[in-house]
Amino acid sequence: MIRVGVNGYGTIGKRVADAVAAQPDMELVGVTKTSPNYGAEVALRRGYDLYAAIDDRVDEFEAAGLGIAGTVADLLDAVDVVVDCCPSGIGERNRPLYDAHDTPAIYQGGEDAGVADASFNARGSDESVTDADSLRVVSCNTTGLSRLLAPLDEAYGVEKARVTLVRRGGDPSETGRGPINDIVPDPTTVPSHHGPDVNTVLPDLAVDTAALKAPVTAMHTHSVNVTLQTAPTSAEVRELLSGESRLFLIPERAGIDGAGTLKDYAADVGRPRGDLWENCVWEESISVQDRDLYLFQNVHQEADVVPENIDAIRSLASDLSRSESVDRTNETLGIGLDSLLSDGGTGRTPTPADD
Ligand code: NAD
Repeated sequence: MIRVGVNGYGTIGKRVADAVAAQPDMELVGVTKTSPNYGAEVALRRGYDLYAAIDDRVDEFEAAGLGIAGTVADLLDAVDVVVDCCPSGIGERNRPLYDAHDTPAIYQGGEDAGVADASFNARGSDESVTDADSLRVVSCNTTGLSRLLAPLDEAYGVEKARVTLVRRGGDPSETGRGPINDIVPDPTTVPSHHGPDVNTVLPDLAVDTAALKAPVTAMHTHSVNVTLQTAPTSAEVRELLSGESRLFLIPERAGIDGAGTLKDYAADVGRPRGDLWENCVWEESISVQDRDLYLFQNVHQEADVVPENIDAIRSLASDLSRSESVDRTNETLGIGLDSLLSDGGTGRTPTPADD
């Protein structure tokens, strides 16, 4: 069993903790909290041992009636791998602590790439990252782009990818973020940092990105244009992408018209928290003109990096091959949405040009 600790139990940490607890070859030793708030209560309700992230706050947990198992140092001594899910920049500050305890660490995409020996995406990074002692799971947007661009590059060769990312303003729980009444170029400079981040896992891929922030919380939307080296048909690209286990092709007849209905669908089919671990690609948007591929995809920022964290843990702490790990993660979490309404696009109807 791989013994795992999660340091930082917020949006990503709580999902990673649940996913670790679901793996047959992993044991969730515990999670940390900085203060005894609702998140700490939830961790205990779920049966997870709670550790104080800050040593001198142990008394606060006791005073609030929340029993704790120790401090973050105790957790680090008890695990084979720690998954750092702290806010951006805190992971870098935690690194000396992990080093001092000789605990292999996984960081998240909010950290600079230099925080770890290698950046990781199960579909992008090559198997040589198994030599690393620390990994950084790339961001939600980079994860979504890598999963899409890796198979396209393998099958057709990518001459150049150009992607506009319409990013959510904040997560649903982040009441203080915005914008609330604008669509803001963010960063204003073009290309954005997302393309270079893709290159941390797909180093030879030519990709430029531009990004905006919109007043939505559910998902990011990517408008993708890829100039390929060969000219497949739209149907061939649909077929290729439908074979990728972490891509979900949204069939038109499902009546899913945006992130709201996508999340509704995910919740109704029983996904925990309505999570979508897969990229969601609008099937009817997949269109090839000469060698130019166009499509829209949505990425659930709170969820898509979760299976990647599980595969990153195995990459650091087991001998399982990448594909075996991906299969196991997919099976245990139930990844691989496949709508009963999928029809390969044959049910599509033309959209009137009135908008
Ligand atoms: P979050 O704010 O929701 O959760 C972070 C948690 O860490 C909070 O509970 C916070 O109290 C806790 N924390 C703060 N300082 C700590 C410390 N010193 N020790 C232990 N815990 C501490 O943040 P998040 O959205 O989960 O993001 C975590 C990381 O994941 C960031 O690098 C972020 O860029 C990355 N990420 C976030 C998303 C997303 O959309 N939320 C997607 C992909 C990657």
